[in-house]
Amino acid sequence: LRSAIDRLGDMIAEASVVVPFTGAGISTESGIPDFRSPGGLWSRNQPIPFDAFVARQDARDEAWRRRFAMESVFKTARPGRGHRALANLYRAGKIPAVLTQNIDNLHQASGFAEHDVVELHGNTTYARCIGCGKRYEIDWVKWCWDRTGHAPHCTACDEPVKTATISFGQAMPEAEMHRAAELAKQCDLMLAIGSSLVVWPAAGLPITAKNSGAKLVIINNESTDQDELADLVIRYDIGEVLGPFVGN
Ligand code: NAD
Repeated sequence: LRSAIDRLGDMIAEASVVVPFTGAGISTESGIPDFRSPGGLWSRNQPIPFDAFVARQDARDEAWRRRFAMESVFKTARPGRGHRALANLYRAGKIPAVLTQNIDNLHQASGFAEHDVVELHGNTTYARCIGCGKRYEIDWVKWCWDRTGHAPHCTACDEPVKTATISFGQAMPEAEMHRAAELAKQCDLMLAIGSSLVVWPAAGLPITAKNSGAKLVIINNESTDQDELADLVIRYDIGEVLGPFVGN
């Protein structure tokens, strides 16, 4: 492990633009379960596709029931060593922005400016109307739920209110995808951290970086389909690998 961490340190030192691409694995240390590990969210619940959310009140109610069950986890989660190491490299000017599949707001909480967190799958710490995009806080949704027993509709246009996340079957956010692709092309080192690299199109970003001449490091405790592409694979716990980069 020590020699892998040394090698990673050398690669970061040699690079001028480092772009991290993060997945749920960077947040397990913060107490947020990932999707595909044993005990992860998928072993408990199949995701609710966007079409079902749009079509059926019972699907919306179920989605919000699950979200409320996670509220104390999202509210109390604090950035882990992985988040803090990236924030440290960001402050040092090595990292211009982080590309993330995560929806937990922990990169912002670790010190990244809001506009330097490129959220490919949205954010679950607030909600939006799926019609007009009006923003709502989770506490407001819960207040409505407690009064009516159902997931609320928008006060402006009456369309359903949903966590500000991208569900399966929902369109990807265009501006974010564009910016992520640009950053992937510009970097000379991409760090893919804590992602199983199976959710597309996000999983194409390390390939874009590699095709544009960047080096690729994959840090994940299990193998991924892109390990063969990588210049360095560190199959180990993220907190342990990135702990030495946390700084003060
Ligand atoms: P994933 O669950 O498919 O993959 C996570 C990977 O991280 C797994 O390969 C797992 O073995 C690894 N991992 C977990 N903890 C680790 C640790 N401490 N050290 C090293 N590796 C570790 O997650 P994904 O690739 O991000 O895709 C899942 C989708 O689910 C994403 O699109 C995201 O939107 C959503 N999601 C987000 C969160 C979050 O915001 N924290 C949590 C669950 C799911």
